[in-house]
Amino acid sequence: MEKFLKDALEIRELAKQHNKLFGESIPLIASENVMSPLAMEMLLTDFGHRYAEGLPHQRYYQGNFFVDQMEDKVIELGKKLFNAPQVDPRPVSGTNANMGVIFGLTKPMERICAPDLSGGGHISAARFGALGFRGLDIVNYPYDEDTMTIDVDGARKTILETKPNLCLFGQSVFLFPAPIKELKDTFQEVGCKVWYDAAHVIGLIAGKKFQDPLREGADVISGSTHKTLPGPQHGIIVGNTDEKTWKKVQKGVFPGVLSNHHLNTMAALGVTMAEMLDYGEAYAQEIINNARTLAEELYSLGMGVLAEKNGFTRSHTLVADVRKFGGGKEVAEKLERCNIILNKNLIPVDHNKNPQDPSGIRIGTQEITRIGFSRNDVKELADLMMKIIQNRISEERAKDEVKTMKSRFNEVKYCYGKADPYEYIELFK
Ligand SMILES: *Cc1c(COP(=O)(O)O)cnc(C)c1O
Repeated sequence: MEKFLKDALEIRELAKQHNKLFGESIPLIASENVMSPLAMEMLLTDFGHRYAEGLPHQRYYQGNFFVDQMEDKVIELGKKLFNAPQVDPRPVSGTNANMGVIFGLTKPMERICAPDLSGGGHISAARFGALGFRGLDIVNYPYDEDTMTIDVDGARKTILETKPNLCLFGQSVFLFPAPIKELKDTFQEVGCKVWYDAAHVIGLIAGKKFQDPLREGADVISGSTHKTLPGPQHGIIVGNTDEKTWKKVQKGVFPGVLSNHHLNTMAALGVTMAEMLDYGEAYAQEIINNARTLAEELYSLGMGVLAEKNGFTRSHTLVADVRKFGGGKEVAEKLERCNIILNKNLIPVDHNKNPQDPSGIRIGTQEITRIGFSRNDVKELADLMMKIIQNRISEERAKDEVKTMKSRFNEVKYCYGKADPYEYIELFK
């Protein structure tokens, strides 16, 4: 008697409903994306059942004959895509990659300079996040709220005064390139290593459209592989540093912060990187064009998009102050009721505000671009969003309009083959 089949099928039903919801929604979360059919296929392979601790050809378990060849290929594709001599595709997420770097390059009590949370920094760079748990002394760079960038002169002063062992760049609200080349001499003067957290922008870097951190002075880049890089939920570290430093980073990854490294997602990452070598430049350019267009259009329709002074954005992300429409929580929930999915976000004016009730929203254009939105579609979307936010249309009517609009975009682009990324595929019969 199968007593719990009902529960299992309930979970499946929720997954089906979730797929349908996203199939009928416009996805604007800046940290998400959809995979290609070939990458999706990799997730369902036997790679996902196996262990392969260590590095290719130096494993601890048997059974890795094809795994080794696959991992070699993934590394080779990563080196080509990032034009880098060192690639470690084992971290299982961006935070896991960050922890590998932290374990490899720092010891407790050492000092690190990092972006501030109110300037868009990630929780892994916080006192209550991975950096804090490593026992590091964290110093934040000053941030320029008008341009939404790190204040370069202030950062130079901070680095010279505090003499950190490591300097970290990269945020979760990452609108403009980080000032690494501007600070290169400063890093050399204090003799620190430079770490660039590219979680959000690594797809734009792969497409050669944001900045080139390894050439500008970064030793290592860490990243998530599912934000602007449209792959599986996984992580990666890319390096252009001396052998000794790289060895430390690799030991930080294994045995530092993982044992097995999720071989099915790593295979999917390899497929995604091959697709990015073929389509990445066109994809990255279109993401940025769409972000700019969306920012300009929303701004002209009355939304308080930030960093106007700096052209709003040079990445996939834009942020807006929506206090006059009831604040981030209200706006995000209202849009969600109409099937437009984005998140509320702290913005610089929020200093000590509760993160559950911030003044802003964050929007990313990487997923809508991936499913074929052009600049005209983005303008249509901006119009619809403002009608909803300003209560110029009923929520019921708006939801229908969103569903109708979305039905034009049900195929994943910039990849091999064709598929509806939101389709539910049944295996269980
Ligand atoms: C998203 C993000 C990460 C890591 O995210 P994971 O969910 O662990 O992949 C790390 N750093 C920054 C700046 C991020 O935005």
